Amino acid sequence: MIFFDNNATTPILPEVVEAMMTQLDGVPRNPSSITSYGREGRARLSQARRQIADQFGLSPEEVIFTSGATESNHLLLYGFHAYKTGHIISSTIDHSSVHEPLQHLKAQVTYVEVGPHGAPTPKAIEQALRPDTALIFLTGANNETGVKIDLDAIGEIAMRRKIPLVIDGVVLLGRTSLFPLPSYIAAISFSGHKIHGPTGSGLALVRKQYKIPPLFYGGFQEHQKRAGTENLPAIVGLAKAMELLDPSIYEYLTNLRDTFEASLYKAGIPIEINGEGPRVGNTTCIYFPEEDGELLLIKMDRAGLIATVGAACSSGTIHASRVLRAMGYNKERIYGSLRFSFSRLNTPEEIKRSIEIIHNSLL
Ligand code: PMP
Repeated sequence: MIFFDNNATTPILPEVVEAMMTQLDGVPRNPSSITSYGREGRARLSQARRQIADQFGLSPEEVIFTSGATESNHLLLYGFHAYKTGHIISSTIDHSSVHEPLQHLKAQVTYVEVGPHGAPTPKAIEQALRPDTALIFLTGANNETGVKIDLDAIGEIAMRRKIPLVIDGVVLLGRTSLFPLPSYIAAISFSGHKIHGPTGSGLALVRKQYKIPPLFYGGFQEHQKRAGTENLPAIVGLAKAMELLDPSIYEYLTNLRDTFEASLYKAGIPIEINGEGPRVGNTTCIYFPEEDGELLLIKMDRAGLIATVGAACSSGTIHASRVLRAMGYNKERIYGSLRFSFSRLNTPEEIKRSIEIIHNSLL
């Protein structure tokens, strides 16, 4: 099977499983316990936290382990809103784990339009600013199209106006350089299962000057920002996946993606790429004119190639992608679009074979 749906989830690496197994050996290591087992757990937890903090150039207390990016986004959104209440700037194409809680927050929110470019521009962010703007919360790279925001330019605006910039960094991690974490980012969220780590593991990095409240209360874990006994196997697995991130892979991913697109053109398959802005290297969202994306997806799957329709598929139901709609594409284009997202485990041979499969599926 060829798996080109790595923005949905990635295969866990054997090294990650091996690391996790060291914590699934039957020894009950609750890091909060003062017993010798507990101390062992605490040492392993601290080691994982320090490693990740060092990678980003942060201090350990700025690293919060969570159950995934959905939780991290909620923690950061509610936390920063409580830290300083005011107007929030977001966009129309943010991930639903940002977009949905924003709708439930009793706050004034400006959703910046993106158009076919696919990401909010620095100019549009600047225009959305108000005297009472207290937070800019954006998705660093869109999971459906891969289009990136201009982080440096938006970061410069946030710094100049002294407004915290919080980023959903899920699609940036492992696909573009984030080490050390740029100083203009106040906080950022990540997900373990998008970088060959365990599902149900995530990170919220929060600079220490922002004293945000926790999402849920109880124990004093995670510097009082995330109550609940730490999921040590997942944390150790996530730290291993982080350790295995390799900057040389960014170019490899971009080459795979570019070869994939070029090969489709070369095979005479009429396609259009969704999103005009600069993209992370591993993602392409492709419109196949006059094709039904869902049918094409099923045919490809039967022939051994897995991709996805837009990312609009939740719990087995296909909805018109909010992101593609917000970019101004019509229904025909939205339902005729498929997303292909690559990982370091994909190969040029798979790209070659996938073109044959797509070609035959279109017949
Ligand atoms: N943000 C983005 C951009 C994502 O792609 C995802 C996963 N689809 C999430 C957040 C949520 O991550 P998790 O599955 O870890 O909750």
